[in-house]
Amino acid sequence: MNQQQFENFTASTLYCKTCKAAMPVRERLLLVLPDKEIFDYLCTGCASSVGQREVTAGDKLMALAARRRRRAAPAHQLMP
Ligand SMILES: [Zn+2]
Repeated sequence: MNQQQFENFTASTLYCKTCKAAMPVRERLLLVLPDKEIFDYLCTGCASSVGQREVTAGDKLMALAARRRRRAAPAHQLMP
């Protein structure tokens, strides 16, 4: 249940008070700090801010490592 809630929070739909509904949101980089970045979530319906998310340096390293792992997948295996 907790896992489900966490996934809902990171999903691209958030409740908008102005639209009074769960709306698709757009992520916008709001602030870059030495140890973290802050993202703003904007409602695609009325363009008002419906939430914020902080990405710490640790999170970024993990995302980077995951991306590197994916890119390291050998493409040359398609060769006959
Ligand atoms: Zn809205």
